[in-house]
Amino acid sequence: MKPALYPGTFDPITYGHLDIIERAIAIFDHLFVLVVSNPNKPFLFSVEERVDMVINSVACWDRVSVEPFDGLLVDEARSRNIHTIIRGLRAVTDFEYEFQMALTNRSLDPHFESVFLMPSNEYSYLSSTLVREVARLGGDVSKFVPPYVQKKLKEVYARRDKTAH
Ligand code: ADP
Repeated sequence: MKPALYPGTFDPITYGHLDIIERAIAIFDHLFVLVVSNPNKPFLFSVEERVDMVINSVACWDRVSVEPFDGLLVDEARSRNIHTIIRGLRAVTDFEYEFQMALTNRSLDPHFESVFLMPSNEYSYLSSTLVREVARLGGDVSKFVPPYVQKKLKEVYARRDKTAH
């Protein structure tokens, strides 16, 4: 069996992430989506909410599991005996950071391999940051995220508006 890990913040999950997941399971037998919890980062959604949205969005695939994660990725990979991580590569802006991270992870563990997959053209500019910004301003994000995530975005900004008044 050839499994792989797909780590990310998924704040929230978008069709870009789902495009990568679909490509990854065409190559690997099982994909573990790891949702980074890191309580020191100011996320829009809690880790429980982010995990819930990912679970809901990947329900159609039985070879994908979703778990929260905090710590060093190479340690997590080693403890699961999995040596491959999947990363998505969008425009050239992702390259520098991903290159640095891949080589750093490899120097921490020489067995660790990063596999980069490119999304379809239509998602190659899409980021969770952009989705949050459009949703915050009341724009239509139906092209970027599944309906369940759309609903959660509406709820979170409605909650915020209420507390701001
Ligand atoms: P972001 O980088 O948007 O904050 P994540 O940390 O959740 O998102 O990203 C997890 C992985 O998914 C990263 O490798 C990132 O480059 C990739 N990714 C995010 N959005 C897309 C997209 N639209 N197309 C392809 N890969 C993506």
